[in-house]
Amino acid sequence: SGWSETWTWIDGTWHEGNPPMMGPRSHAAWLGSSVFDGARFFEGVMPDLDLHCQRVNDSAVALGLKPTMQVGEMMELCSDATAKFSPDKQLYIKPMYWAEADGPGVIAADPDSTRFCMCVFDAPMSGKGAANSITLSSFRRPTMECMPVNAKAGCLYPNNARAMVEAKGKGFDNAVVCDMLGNVAELTSANIFMAKAGEVHTPVPNGTFLNGITRQRVIKLLRDAGYNVHERTLGFDEFLEADEIFSTGNYNKVVPVNRIETRDLQPGPIASKARELYWEFSHA
Ligand code: PMP
Repeated sequence: SGWSETWTWIDGTWHEGNPPMMGPRSHAAWLGSSVFDGARFFEGVMPDLDLHCQRVNDSAVALGLKPTMQVGEMMELCSDATAKFSPDKQLYIKPMYWAEADGPGVIAADPDSTRFCMCVFDAPMSGKGAANSITLSSFRRPTMECMPVNAKAGCLYPNNARAMVEAKGKGFDNAVVCDMLGNVAELTSANIFMAKAGEVHTPVPNGTFLNGITRQRVIKLLRDAGYNVHERTLGFDEFLEADEIFSTGNYNKVVPVNRIETRDLQPGPIASKARELYWEFSHA
């Protein structure tokens, strides 16, 4: 099938591979009522797994679904899943909820039809030396009035995909997506930071982008290590003049940017420190 090694738990049973789970009448397949989260297993650890499991429940509630799993139950499933893989693998851990049936007027999901699966698969992380190039997107993040931006919902990602495809078409690895006012929000699936004169700056959560679990963790680790981290409104121009830029996200943790538009950047000491602190925290 082309899928890497994958295990999925649905309704009490583990399935190897990519088992079918929705039909053409499933509300989620038809009208987009699905939420997920993404956590990581690597080097024997699953950092902030409890927060990722809690967030998928919060995302479900934000979409009007009814979470059926406790955080502790999900975490146990994660341990069961990782034991099925060779311990040197780097795994992506994806709990999901979706609505099976439609509710009033078809458009709304029936919360009582909420279903859950835990899908875990082999997905190598980019290594220590990895870096990305970024470009300004012509697409924008929706506000809370336009979309449920507080949820990690599948229905938000086609917009991020447009930004990614545009960036790749211009020869870049990722896109800087702004909010409706034109201030920097995030990358297509990661949060963004910059460093200038030894201080760290990152967009302040304003309801237009995901306030990432890795973002919050890295802010705390940097502050505890004595760095000034400013969460504030940031224009793209400030990124063009940054000493360093880096991104955070569960998938690859902390990754430096090595080019913004036509300007080359050296992966710098603060990004490297943030990555080091994250690894220390993960293994503590
Ligand atoms: N923004 C978006 C749109 C994302 O998909 C992700 C990945 N979950 C992030 C930011 C980073 O969030 P986290 O650190 O919680 O993975």
